[in-house]
Amino acid sequence: MGGLMQGKRGLIMGLANDKSIAWGIAKKLAAEGAELAFSYQGEALAKRVRPLAEQLGSDFLIECDVSKMEALDAAFDALKSRWDQLDFVVHAIGFSDKSELRGKYVDTSLDNFLMTMNISAYSLVAVAKRASEMMPETGGSILTLTYYGAEKVIPHYNVMGVAKAALETSVQYLANDLGPRNIRVNAISAGPIKTLAASGIGDFRYILKWNELNSPLRRNVTIDDVGGSGLYFLSDLSSGVTGEVHHVDGGYHVVGMKQEDAPDI
Ligand code: NAD
Repeated sequence: MGGLMQGKRGLIMGLANDKSIAWGIAKKLAAEGAELAFSYQGEALAKRVRPLAEQLGSDFLIECDVSKMEALDAAFDALKSRWDQLDFVVHAIGFSDKSELRGKYVDTSLDNFLMTMNISAYSLVAVAKRASEMMPETGGSILTLTYYGAEKVIPHYNVMGVAKAALETSVQYLANDLGPRNIRVNAISAGPIKTLAASGIGDFRYILKWNELNSPLRRNVTIDDVGGSGLYFLSDLSSGVTGEVHHVDGGYHVVGMKQEDAPDI
């Protein structure tokens, strides 16, 4: 164990199982000495999250559905009841009705548009407000997860791409609002990874294969790859960095067309 995060306390939001991106980040943070609390959505997930938290030496679990402001208030009250301050937050949360993560964006319903925006974009704003109030004079770090579908059209990603665009712009506005208090806000734009959330996206296996064959590194990234970059953003190593959307995607975002050596799929 190293000591990069020694003495720092943070909240991990969005751990569902050991395939979650939040798990990749939490493991790296714990290995560097961070003290972690975990929020989860609904009792069904508590059974999965508790043993994982215990593996990282944490018994601090808080239920929180981020679409409900009173649930967020209660979650931060629970956090305050045990911790007097908070150094960092990982926001690894996104959701949309999977029936609209296939087909065409033009068919998005108003209800699902608003729900997707609330859970996947606004929740970062609501979390940043509450978390920043608990951060010390010396500052803090907030990290969220986004995807390339915010920048370019990815078939089936639809309303989630629009929500991620709002999330990325929120990162910039939040970074500017909270910067004077030395609170940094950044995003990692992760390449496709097989997780519970990703399984809702139509033809996800094709996206995975395409990225593997066409990214400069010629492979897909893992939750450990994202975890390493997460550690950088949440530690003092990135003390001069805020408002950034950082790609951890094997370089896929710099490629303009199919690679010559990529077979047809
Ligand atoms: P995951 O299914 O493991 O995690 C998603 C989490 O969001 C779950 O823990 C779920 O409980 C939580 N969540 C959904 N609605 C919620 C709500 N109302 N309140 C509280 N929590 C809620 O999947 P993941 O892929 O690890 O997703 C984490 C983040 O990474 C998401 O923002 C996702 O969009 C993003 N991301 C994923 C990929 C990928 O390919 N897997 C790529 C880039 C970005």
